[in-house]
Amino acid sequence: MIEHLYIHGAYLKSNSSETFESINPANGQVIALIDQASESDVEVAIKSAEKGFAVWSKMKAVERGRILLKAVSILRERNNELAALEVADCGKPLQEANCVDIHSGADVIEYYAGIAPGLQGAQQDLKSSTFYISKREPLGVCAGIGAWNYPIQIACWKSAACLAAGNSMVFKPSEETPLSVLKLAEIYTEAGMPPGVFNVVQGDYRVGQYLTRHPRVAKISFTGESGTGKKIMADAAGSLKEVTLELGGKSPLIIFNDADIDNAISGALLANFYTQGEVCTNGTRVFVQSGIYDKFIEKVCQRSKKIKLGDPMDLDTQMGALISSKHLDKVMDYIDKAKKSGARLVLGGNRHKSKETENGFFVEPTIFADCKDDSEHVTDEIFGPVMSILRFDDEAEVIGRANDTKFGLAAGVFTQNINRAHRVINQLEAGICWINSWGDSPAEMPVGGYKESGIGRENGPETLKSYTQIKSIFVRLDDVESPY
Ligand code: NAP
Repeated sequence: MIEHLYIHGAYLKSNSSETFESINPANGQVIALIDQASESDVEVAIKSAEKGFAVWSKMKAVERGRILLKAVSILRERNNELAALEVADCGKPLQEANCVDIHSGADVIEYYAGIAPGLQGAQQDLKSSTFYISKREPLGVCAGIGAWNYPIQIACWKSAACLAAGNSMVFKPSEETPLSVLKLAEIYTEAGMPPGVFNVVQGDYRVGQYLTRHPRVAKISFTGESGTGKKIMADAAGSLKEVTLELGGKSPLIIFNDADIDNAISGALLANFYTQGEVCTNGTRVFVQSGIYDKFIEKVCQRSKKIKLGDPMDLDTQMGALISSKHLDKVMDYIDKAKKSGARLVLGGNRHKSKETENGFFVEPTIFADCKDDSEHVTDEIFGPVMSILRFDDEAEVIGRANDTKFGLAAGVFTQNINRAHRVINQLEAGICWINSWGDSPAEMPVGGYKESGIGRENGPETLKSYTQIKSIFVRLDDVESPY
């Protein structure tokens, strides 16, 4: 069966003759063939989104909110079925997808459906006979381009603020994970969204480029690698469109001697092995203070050894398969480089193969200790289950080392000293910070990166405003003074 594009409230066959495969990373089997969109398909999607915008932007925000809330309840009703589809497409464990991917997407749609009606302009009196008003108007047709690690969540997060503010969206998922966003499009239609408000085009980077370079797309919201983000920004400059870039990272997690060590280890495990390490905010540079260094390594290995790796559909499985054989090779290459760097391999370091997983792309939870700051596995984003542990002695030293990276997505500190926690976090160059926790991302909290980890934010109140533009209107009640 071939999955088509989703345009103007229905499936539409591409006019290209190209298709591509979606593969289940847990067993290497093809689960679907998908239409690759052509440039003219993208044009059709944009025209549809313009028609959708004309209807949607004229509705009251509460009316849009009602439709978005209906979509939220359908997403939650269909949670388990959507989670299973996500697992088949991206290899993550069902125990994660069941409770995170769809729920966290629905939460953000619900949040923006609730706050969008409160979006207001301003009015200010100037002279007694003049004043101005400013209105917040939607931008128009926006494009979303997604990564493969949280496909439906990314599509929900991007469309939520965009649509709640009255825009329409054309969304391109990663070609690795094209399936779940089609279900989101169906759900929006079922909830009563007018045709064209949310369209899906499928395919590789070419489709992303058509969108990014298109003169009638007002904004690109992109999630992916920093290198791709730079290309998107350059392409968007051709038509001066707005960009939001949610990019990669190599985030520091700093654990002080006085930390609650079991909580710190829980944080480190979440920050490295959740979703097989395929999380943008991962805290993969784990700085541990000398006083607890050996104890930390012993305990983190003990707990990591118990992680159950295997068939992601098995609800007991805690770690699934990497997205593709190409990505598996990349991760194994970094592990080989780490072995040669002089770092001490204290756990894992191999492809995982059992009868159950032999055709899938599985890597053992891997931990290196005594890492050097400038080794490639420490400086580069690996996006796999590879933890690098680095020893430090004092606070000023670790802050300097933690900030010595081109990335600035996330950072975390474990300490019982509340003064130190804030003092350190205040000096870390990162957009998303955690104190005595890791990974929490509620809808209310803006997320995004410093430095080469991104531009703009997702979630939180500011993001809604970023999908609007201000129109200022000056009003005069008396005569116009003119020298002419
Ligand atoms: P990627 O290779 O940069 O691809 C992301 C998306 O961009 C895909 O849909 C891709 O299409 C498309 N694309 C590639 N080249 C393009 C171009 N020149 N113009 C327009 N679109 C283009 O990233 P990925 O491998 O999918 O995802 C992993 C990365 O995402 C990691 O770096 C991770 O840190 C980052 N990420 C960041 C966040 C965040 O919130 N900061 C969240 C999740 C992931 P195809 O792949 O289909 O060809």
